[in-house]
Amino acid sequence: MENYFAVIGDPIAHSLSPLLHSAGYQSLGITAEYSRFRVTPSKLKEAVYGLRALGFSGWNVTIPHKESIIPLLDELTPEAENAGAVNTVKQLNGKLIGHNTDGNGFVLAIENKFNFSDKKAVILGAGGAARGIAFALKEKGMRIHILNRTLSRAQELASLIRLAGGEASSGDLLPGVWLKDVDLVVQTTPVGLYGENYPISLQGIKPKTLVVDIIYKPWETAFLREARKLGCQTINGLPMFLFQGVLAWEFWLGGKAPVEQMWAALVNEVQTK
Ligand code: NAP
Repeated sequence: MENYFAVIGDPIAHSLSPLLHSAGYQSLGITAEYSRFRVTPSKLKEAVYGLRALGFSGWNVTIPHKESIIPLLDELTPEAENAGAVNTVKQLNGKLIGHNTDGNGFVLAIENKFNFSDKKAVILGAGGAARGIAFALKEKGMRIHILNRTLSRAQELASLIRLAGGEASSGDLLPGVWLKDVDLVVQTTPVGLYGENYPISLQGIKPKTLVVDIIYKPWETAFLREARKLGCQTINGLPMFLFQGVLAWEFWLGGKAPVEQMWAALVNEVQTK
């Protein structure tokens, strides 16, 4: 039987998910198709009904539907519940199961460069991606400090982490003493996508601190460039993008995704454009 997969969102034209998944199918000789569909907010409900009726095995969900799709699904995994957002849907025996692979994708992206336990992370931003990452880092035993432009959203996320048994605090998106006492900084806002400068500086950060920006286009944002110049280790968002896709693949198809081939397809696309 043919397996049909897709990504839905708006805008969607530049999504690399079809390339990522198709490279995997090709490498393992799996008969499957992965499409991308532009779905506006007013058409989300109809689109989900359509994908269900057409027998799609699964689909990824991106901006702006990661939260609004939740009431249209039958079940959520604990990862989706924690993140309060769904980036992956599986259709199983007619049921739609919502899952979130952003947080664990982030962990897989850095785990060969970072020892998590008993360390402190500062997360810049408190949106959907930050929420998934914060819960995944809490599961790894990290202490978490969340800084956001809108303080109330940082406070809300920190309190959700504490309610779930983690250690978390919050503050305004400002430089401060945290720079001297942090092991991992994760930049989760969209600032830098269009070459803009970051609203705060990392001056004063300890050299060798691991600094991750979850943006991957441009390859190095102004934020990540400053971190590199200050002697930090840096990682952009492409490894996280790879592993959120790898985990979605494995959720849908079982078995192990061909990570190296999927990575090669992404790097080839992002670095040559
Ligand atoms: P979101 O839910 O809309 O959250 C955006 C966050 O950024 C909020 O905390 C918002 O603060 C903050 N923000 C927005 N503009 C800002 C500005 N000008 N200055 C300071 N803070 C600002 O978005 P999301 O779904 O979390 O996605 C965020 C980014 O992550 C996007 O660029 C997305 O492409 C990327 N992403 C990458 C991956 C990957 O695999 N690499 C996966 C998921 C997402 P307020 O609360 O004050 O509005």
